[in-house]
Amino acid sequence: MNSSVMPTYARMPVSFVYGQGAWLFSTDERRFLDAISGIAVCNLGHAHPKVARAIADQALKLVHTSNLYGIELQEKLAETLIRLSGLENAFFCNSGAEANEAALKLARKYGHLKGIERPIVVVMEQSFHGRTLFTLSATGNPKVQEGFEPLVDTFIRVPYGDIEALKQLNDPSIVAVLLEPVQGEGGVRAPEPGYLSAVRELTQNRQWLMMLDEVQCGMGRTGRWFGFQHENIQPDVMTLAKALGNGVPIGACLAGGLAAGILTAGKHGSTFGGNPLACRAALTVIEVLEQENLVQRAAVLGKEMLARFREGLAGNPRVVDIRGRGLMIGIELDSPCGDLTSHALAQGLLINVTADRTVRLLPPLILSDDEMHVLCDAVIRLITEFTADFAPGRLS
Ligand code: PLP
Repeated sequence: MNSSVMPTYARMPVSFVYGQGAWLFSTDERRFLDAISGIAVCNLGHAHPKVARAIADQALKLVHTSNLYGIELQEKLAETLIRLSGLENAFFCNSGAEANEAALKLARKYGHLKGIERPIVVVMEQSFHGRTLFTLSATGNPKVQEGFEPLVDTFIRVPYGDIEALKQLNDPSIVAVLLEPVQGEGGVRAPEPGYLSAVRELTQNRQWLMMLDEVQCGMGRTGRWFGFQHENIQPDVMTLAKALGNGVPIGACLAGGLAAGILTAGKHGSTFGGNPLACRAALTVIEVLEQENLVQRAAVLGKEMLARFREGLAGNPRVVDIRGRGLMIGIELDSPCGDLTSHALAQGLLINVTADRTVRLLPPLILSDDEMHVLCDAVIRLITEFTADFAPGRLS
């Protein structure tokens, strides 16, 4: 098909015209159960009436002024995020990459204030932090970096979850560690319990900033407001985007302690960042998450889904691992399984495969029990059929 859109995406052959809760409806009037939520964005599902009404109401009042002026809704959103996270202040932007860009700039400035000329940030293997040049350089995936060299070369990369590797670093120019509490694009990987606390202790001792990329795992997805809350720690910096606006573009870089005073007037900015429309959407998203107890719901649903998958796929030799935290679930197969997404699509189910061989499920937090059962049955059936079809030794 000829398209006037730059071909940067390998798109599935379907377009949606409207959505309702966990369901999306296509131009040809088929319906699909959405188990990916626009990649961890629509945590409240589609067309949530409270969010839709708030957006419409705000659009009729005021969409944009400028960060040249005070923005009450931005103040209110910052206060709300501070209350939930324990951090101290927030900078608003429009995406995850921009939120991480702000964090990385903050780390550089922190380094310069300490007299370090070439500040180094430690990042993780298999991480994903965005597509701007700085965040792409921080990302641990050579495939997405290829063709964009020279990358920013002020990063040191270590294996994710390996505290000893981190402890062995002794470059005096290190100023920060940036990591995801649960890696999303890297294959839905959570580190062993205790790792985040160990990183916290080490970074504190060495006066490195602990910066957490919660763009995918934040905002309730893992069964806590933020991924770091699974351990009793407080980072210096945390980035958010995706689910913060349930689809209205908004990102945030939050900071606490020393980090909260680094980015001062004139040092960073964004034309759209934190405008009244985006902040009103995000405030309403948080209000609904709280009123409907959806963060706890994500924890309960996630546990149940993991148990269903472990039972339904037990004994399947091609299933290597079933893991997850809350409603961030990965089912790893023993070989690439990207084709599963089109098999699922043909059956009216939207899933995704990440890191080549991990089926990733990020269903909306408003999923009903019935929808959860439909989803689990469909995924178990799909994987069972897919792995049987491609079983080694099977006659074609
Ligand atoms: N950080 C993480 C952990 C992500 O998963 C993503 C996107 O998938 C990003 C950053 C980049 O976010 P955006 O696409 O909004 O720039």
